[in-house]
Amino acid sequence: MKLRYDLHSHSTASDGTLSPRDLVMRARAQGVDVLALTDHDTTDGLAEAAQAAAESGLQLVSGVEISVTWNQHLVHLVGLRVNPAHGPLQTGLADLRARRDGRAEEIGRRLTRSGIPGAFEGARVYAGGGVVSRTHFARFLIEQGRSRDMREAFDRYLAPGKPGYVSTVWAPLEEAVAWIRGAEGVAVIAHPARYKLTGTRLRQLIGEFKECGGEGIEVVSGSHSRNDCQTMADYAARFDLLASCGSDYHGPETPWMELGRLPDLPPGCTPVWERWAGQDDSFPAQALAF
Ligand code: AMP
Ligand code: MN
Ligand code: MN
Ligand code: MN
Repeated sequence: MKLRYDLHSHSTASDGTLSPRDLVMRARAQGVDVLALTDHDTTDGLAEAAQAAAESGLQLVSGVEISVTWNQHLVHLVGLRVNPAHGPLQTGLADLRARRDGRAEEIGRRLTRSGIPGAFEGARVYAGGGVVSRTHFARFLIEQGRSRDMREAFDRYLAPGKPGYVSTVWAPLEEAVAWIRGAEGVAVIAHPARYKLTGTRLRQLIGEFKECGGEGIEVVSGSHSRNDCQTMADYAARFDLLASCGSDYHGPETPWMELGRLPDLPPGCTPVWERWAGQDDSFPAQALAF
């Protein structure tokens, strides 16, 4: 039987709006067989998700989405089947979260100077003790009537060049790949079409990623057009990379985006899950301790 995979999703541990448990239950209800929880710069949601997955018969892939700065571009790497007990991974993620905390305070100060007080506190309430993301600032700005929706909040306040944007240096590419590999995981370039890189720059990124041990690329993504999928399938073949697929689901507030509703990988792709065939599935249980 063909399994339904969704290998990129978020919970309240970062900027998703469903708890890890509710995310897993929703994925199951949507017919997803294999779900990766890939929160931004944290594995904190994995224990709860693993528990819910065991109860519901869904296979959980322990994942993480790591913020990387590559040649001054923000790039996201997804780590799949990572062992969350790997020390250097956790140390690296803790450092990224500390940078996020400092950035959040600075975003708050800048928005205050722009006549919008209380944003830091407001975003922290939305973050609910989890990783603070620009998404939480966007929710605050919408609540305050400053923006109509997420897109407008980013376009007006949170994107590069806007009053609430704070340039931040995230993990170097080779370090993030090393953390994932050290944790026995597969490193995947997330939503490569989102970075708006020229073809030349994107090929440079993929080449450097591959050189430092990266193994996969998201060919099918919730944020890719059909054309993007084909372009990335071509790159996967050219660079001999495994192909992944994930919705990048953040919650039911975006009804046009649903868990597990993804087109098939284009012909010729080697799915990332072929790499796992026959391996045992012990990390979610270990994740309970983290
Ligand atoms: P951060 O990691 O805190 O910089 O926040 C980035 C997150 O904001 C991404 O993971 C997306 O979930 C969200 N995001 C970025 N750009 C946009 C946008 N234009 N519209 C809606 N959400 C966005
Ligand atoms: Mn996000
Ligand atoms: Mn991302
Ligand atoms: Mn994501």
